[in-house]
Amino acid sequence: MDFEFSSGQREIREAVSSLCARFGDEYWRQCDERSAYPEEFVRTLGEAGWLAALIPQEYGGAGLTMLDGSIILEEINHSGGNAAACHAQMYTMASLLKHGSEEQKRRYLPRIASGELRLQAFGVTEPDAGSETPKIKTFARRAGDNYVINGSKIFTSRYQHSDMLLLLTRTTPFDELKKKTDGMSLFLVNLREYGDAIKAVPIATMINHGTNQLFIDNLTVPRAALIGEEGKGFHYLLSSLNAERILVASESIGDGRWFVEHAVSYANERRVFDRAIGMNQGVQFPIAKAHMSVEAASLMRLKAVTLFDANLPCGGEANMAKYLATEAAWEAAEAAMNTLGGYGFTKQYHVERKWREARLYRTAPISNNLVLSYVAEHLLGLPRSY
Ligand SMILES: Cc1cc2nc3c(=O)[nH]c(=O)nc-3n(C[C@H](O)[C@H](O)[C@H](O)COP(=O)(O)OP(=O)(O)OC[C@H]3O[C@@H](n4cnc5c(N)ncnc54)[C@H](O)[C@@H]3O)c2cc1C
Repeated sequence: MDFEFSSGQREIREAVSSLCARFGDEYWRQCDERSAYPEEFVRTLGEAGWLAALIPQEYGGAGLTMLDGSIILEEINHSGGNAAACHAQMYTMASLLKHGSEEQKRRYLPRIASGELRLQAFGVTEPDAGSETPKIKTFARRAGDNYVINGSKIFTSRYQHSDMLLLLTRTTPFDELKKKTDGMSLFLVNLREYGDAIKAVPIATMINHGTNQLFIDNLTVPRAALIGEEGKGFHYLLSSLNAERILVASESIGDGRWFVEHAVSYANERRVFDRAIGMNQGVQFPIAKAHMSVEAASLMRLKAVTLFDANLPCGGEANMAKYLATEAAWEAAEAAMNTLGGYGFTKQYHVERKWREARLYRTAPISNNLVLSYVAEHLLGLPRSY
């Protein structure tokens, strides 16, 4: 067991951190205020090669590990930014790398690696299915060499800023299956070629996330857009889900560190009753507790990502890391909000923006209730609760 980062990992952290320093709190505040996509930040990150971190070198990427990816995203959020603008390119990669055809990889990965194409949109959630993914209704029907897809998705983020969409559909109706997780298929849709059949309606939310409802009307894609075999899409998706849990945990750890550092700095400077407010245990204990929660969550994240990189089972650890990190970030967000008093509510200190952003990850991409159900059922052997 080694608790030290390698010199390569320290270099990644420093390089990402210095890139992020060019996009300070004010940049992110303005994007938030205008509900604008952080285009310049994402472009700069892409040009520096960080968005191609997980793409193997043979396809033009950096061929880095998931641990490296987790350091990159953690550092973005630790800097005060929001990696949600571009994280999907990393967590969708596992489905494509593990289950995509050689033709799909050769066709798209080098262009994704160079930044010519962005794979930032991931369409799973549907209005009537919610957390019960097998109940999705979007349907892909075989028509000769094509599939014709109809249905709708909700909360598909970054659609307007992506050239490609990883889309989960049914190819066998729910009622015709014994095993309900079968009969779903995953498509890699090139929106530049086929995007006209999809209407995206932006959803106004409390954070700057660019999320949408999609209406899919006779979207016709060639068979070559199917990832792997028909009917196995949900199982392919699982490869991406562990990556997604680990990466979201890493962003939350970055958020948690940002909150703790800001709370400490403010608590040391702000003087009320003739002393720094940080001298009061009522102020310092919640910050200290949040710090411990963030550090503990980081250890679980490191365990999960180490197993992932070694190609060992890591579903339990990835889920636990996601839960612990998102709860720790929220604890830290609340501690920072309380420490800043009324100033926490002002945009000037940026805590309120980060507080809104950190809250999302307790609900998405999987709600923490569903993580608890997973742990109870799959790790502890308790009866399935739903
Ligand atoms: C800003 C934002 C961006 C998003 N981006 C994407 C995206 O890019 N792509 C995508 O596919 N999805 C995306 N999502 C969707 C997100 O993954 C879902 O919102 C999330 O999975 C929860 O689904 P739901 O909202 O339908 O909640 P529901 O499933 O309706 O659940 C509502 C509440 O009930 C609880 N609940 C439901 N069933 C149970 C149970 N059995 N036991 C205990 N509690 C239960 C849940 O925990 C939750 O608190 C995004 C969501 C948001 C808000």
